[in-house]
Amino acid sequence: MRVGILGGGQLGRMLALAGYPLGHTFRFFDPSPEAGAGEVGELVNGSYDEEEALKRFADGLDVITYEFENVPVEAARLLEQYAPVHPNPAALEAAQDRLVEKRYFRTLNIPTAQFRDVDSRADLDAAVEALWLPAVLKTRREGYDGKGQRVLREPSDLDAAWSDLGDKALILEQFVRFDRELSIVATRSTGGDFRYYPLVENTHVDGILSRTVAPAPDVSERQQRAAEGYAHRIQTALDYAGTLAVELFEVDGLLMANEMAPRVHNSGHWSIEGAETSQFENHIRAVTGQPLGSTGLRGQATMLNLIGTTPDPADMLKVDASHLHLYSKAPRPGRKLGHITVRSDHLERLETSVAALEALISGTEE
Ligand code: AMP
Repeated sequence: MRVGILGGGQLGRMLALAGYPLGHTFRFFDPSPEAGAGEVGELVNGSYDEEEALKRFADGLDVITYEFENVPVEAARLLEQYAPVHPNPAALEAAQDRLVEKRYFRTLNIPTAQFRDVDSRADLDAAVEALWLPAVLKTRREGYDGKGQRVLREPSDLDAAWSDLGDKALILEQFVRFDRELSIVATRSTGGDFRYYPLVENTHVDGILSRTVAPAPDVSERQQRAAEGYAHRIQTALDYAGTLAVELFEVDGLLMANEMAPRVHNSGHWSIEGAETSQFENHIRAVTGQPLGSTGLRGQATMLNLIGTTPDPADMLKVDASHLHLYSKAPRPGRKLGHITVRSDHLERLETSVAALEALISGTEE
């Protein structure tokens, strides 16, 4: 099939790399002529409100998907006139606004932190009164990798946070004292078939994902089933085809949803080497109507993100059992430039390699 992908970043690139062996071809839409996916497929440049450019992109495509959750819903809906768009653009609507998203989780009986809508300084004071401190003030839209959020610890933090964020629509969330962060990645086919990856454990540094361990250690059967249930409810309610990620906080053994991504996710990159079918391949299989593949594990895997700078590739490749993925992006602080996965059947071998890579990565940081 001719597959169109909205967004031409590393996720689009890895989707295409997984999809070519299945017989598909790829075209990307991205505002930037530098978009890295342009190296592995045709790239159409334009802005998401340019109908002509979107039409040029859609011309001759069999199916359209996205790798970026801030695709304007109107653009996705317009494209539905030309080819099926998967996942359902309703998923974009649910995921783009943290308030809508948290309310959505609640309607599906998925636990979340307590939250309040904040539209004015008076709302903020009332929300702090209701939820107490510490709390996290976040912009409802366009926050990612920890951007657009402030932790409020003392009443005296409110003024500064309000002057930074107060011009935007906000949500105040209770500060969750989580034991750890986990995520579940799941794929649903157009026919309603499901595949779940095992829960993975994520470590964030400055709000950016730094490391994913797959599978997460010490996960009970009950926790895995609970997380699968959350993904199942979301994907069923949205009549969703494709891969979805749900980020979770573990608190006293219980799983609370923080946010969802209606796309392949950074915490699923390990699956390229660590699962029988990667999240990327399963997403392409789902949106093109092909049968889904097994999500069974191939040993254990740890993925490390390369953020801001990258060590010398040759040094990283010298490390046993490592698999390097560079995204062809110019270095910039806080930017995800690539990732490296270690996969092994032996925990000791895996840990030795991960320690060697972490030393290389920390050696390149200021
Ligand atoms: P987010 O952009 O919502 O994924 O937040 C980025 C990171 O900030 C999360 O992965 C957590 O480490 C932290 N965080 C976000 N919301 C909360 C919260 N309500 N309580 C505690 N930590 C949070």
